Amino acid sequence: MAKRIVYFDMDGVLCKFKKKYDEELKRNHSIKYPQATYGFFTSLEPHHIMIGLYKALEKNSNFEVHILTAPSIHNPLCYTEKRVWVEKHLGMDAVQRMVITQHKNLLKGDYLIDDHSTGRGQDKFEGKLLLVDEDNMNETVNNIINTIKDEVVDIL
Ligand SMILES: [Mg+2]
Repeated sequence: MAKRIVYFDMDGVLCKFKKKYDEELKRNHSIKYPQATYGFFTSLEPHHIMIGLYKALEKNSNFEVHILTAPSIHNPLCYTEKRVWVEKHLGMDAVQRMVITQHKNLLKGDYLIDDHSTGRGQDKFEGKLLLVDEDNMNETVNNIINTIKDEVVDIL
């Protein structure tokens, strides 16, 4: 059987985007785009349960995992910061499997794990979109595992 290709989004999936975003807004009410601040993306905390899922699938020979993230185009350093973050939390193997694009629909694959269903081509992705609720990560990861289990035998 061909390996299943799985893409992981970063903001709101592997990284705690919302937490940092809200903290920055609280600190400075007049800031319009907290994510446009240099250093914003490197400082995001990881969602450990999602990192765990990434690593479990990475080790499983039925899957090929990649990172698929859209850039914050108003923060040119975000491209570098995302790369730095991935090396720190997932290692160089993940860096080699990292795609930064605003057009997620252009990538070939079976699953896209993302916290948004539209906006960056998610709705036109050829595989199945597995939607993430950042406020309910345990439930989200369980649902993802169940969905993948239903469709792929002998995993996890
Ligand atoms: Mg996201």
